[in-house]
Formats: sequence, structure tokens, C-alpha cells
Amino acid sequence: MKLLAVPVGHVTSKMPQMEGTPPNPVMAFIIQTAGETVLFDTGMHPHVREDAVAYWGGIARRHLVPVLPDEADVVSRLEAAGIAPKNVTLVINSHLHNDHAGMNRFFPDSRILVRQREWDHAITVMDDNSSGFVRNDFYDDNALPDFFDYESECDLLGNGVLTLVSTPGHTPGHQCLKITFPSGARHILSGDAVYSAGQLDTGDPPAITWDRDVAVESVKRLAGLRDSGASVHVCHDPGEWNGVEKVQTVYEET
Ligand SMILES: [Zn+2]
Repeated sequence: MKLLAVPVGHVTSKMPQMEGTPPNPVMAFIIQTAGETVLFDTGMHPHVREDAVAYWGGIARRHLVPVLPDEADVVSRLEAAGIAPKNVTLVINSHLHNDHAGMNRFFPDSRILVRQREWDHAITVMDDNSSGFVRNDFYDDNALPDFFDYESECDLLGNGVLTLVSTPGHTPGHQCLKITFPSGARHILSGDAVYSAGQLDTGDPPAITWDRDVAVESVKRLAGLRDSGASVHVCHDPGEWNGVEKVQTVYEET
């Protein structure tokens, strides 16, 4: 059983208060377990290479500059690592923002599972030029994903190995993924519940929130899991990922 990190580009900030800070990595992850190859998040759509403002709208104009080299989109990364996209059995997202669900449609052979409350929010704002949700990333009238929902936690495969942990606030249906290895070691993928590892100590929510108070509670939940011994991998944390330039094993047990 294996957790793989898949680096899928960067975003740099245009906001004056972020000047001089390192670029934030954009990450996807593969979990290989019991015949399943699960992809958590899909990074950014290749359209951002040509004209990010046209594809992302106001977000790219005012806040974030996406950087996605030719070899860095999630499909190219997986192929370079010998993982055929068609062999991904399940795609699931922390949330549907444009740097986490950008390539969902590139996995037509995979089961794509979307949390209903995230979808319900995303489709109401996806045509708003500054929402961070991009219709073409995840919405296809002719190929809707599978929907599900839950309140606090969801045992994704029914065997206790992959547990979705509800961490709303950044978006309504935001979720982290907890991976439990045979030894009991737990690894958690943060999505955007926090942007940097330091926020687990300060308790600060991400700068962009749908509901700030709810987001603060989610940071506490994630910090509590860390304090109980889980390894929390913060998806946009420069310190954890900026040296990673190809698919790399984060943790494995046989
Ligand atoms: Zn986000």
C-alpha cells in the first residue's frame, strides 16, 4: 500500500502582502491499495498555460498566476511514472476549486465521486468570473459524476483504509483524506483546509473562505488529528513540496 505525491505545477500570488514569498505548490496524490488506484485532486487544466485570465477569470487577473509546465499536468505526471490514467479507478477531490479539480474530465474511464454539497455550491457560482470554480473543469452535462454525501466522516472503500474527513469552511463541501496503513500509521491530505503547515499551530483559516468561522473549526479538527499522531500533509505548503519535481513515494507499507 502506497501514498504517492504528484507535483502538478505552482501558483504564485499577485497580492502585495505575499510579495517575496515562495510559489505555492499545487499537488495531487495517488493512493494504491487493495486493487484500487485512487487519485486525490487533479490540479490545473492545461488551458491555463495559454491564457490563464481567459480560463480562470478574475482569480488569475487579481490574485494567482498559475504555472503549469508541459510535463507537469497530472496526466503527464502519471504517465511518466508508469501509471496509465485509465487505470485510475477512483477520482475524488478535496473540493472543486480550479487548482484541485482542473483535470477531472481527463479521467473518463475512472469513477469520479463528488460530494453533493460541494457540487450544489459549485454549480451555482461556476459561471461567476471570480469564484474559483470553473465550469469546464468538472461540469459535463453528458457525463455527470457519481454523487454522495455525509456529515462528519466517510469510509470511502468500506474497509477503514481511506476516510474522508469533513473540513468545510474554505468551501461548503471541503474534505481531507485520511489514509490508514496496516500498521495503524495515519497520513492526512489537507486540501485547502490550511494553506501552510504553520496554520495548524496558529489556528488561522485559509485566506479565502466561504464561511470563516466554520473554517476555523475545521483547522482545529485537523490540528487535533495531527496532535493525535497523524502525519498531516499540507497540499500548498512550499516547505513540504517545492523540492518535489516528479511523482514520489510519501509513505508505503507492504
Ligand atoms: Zn481552494
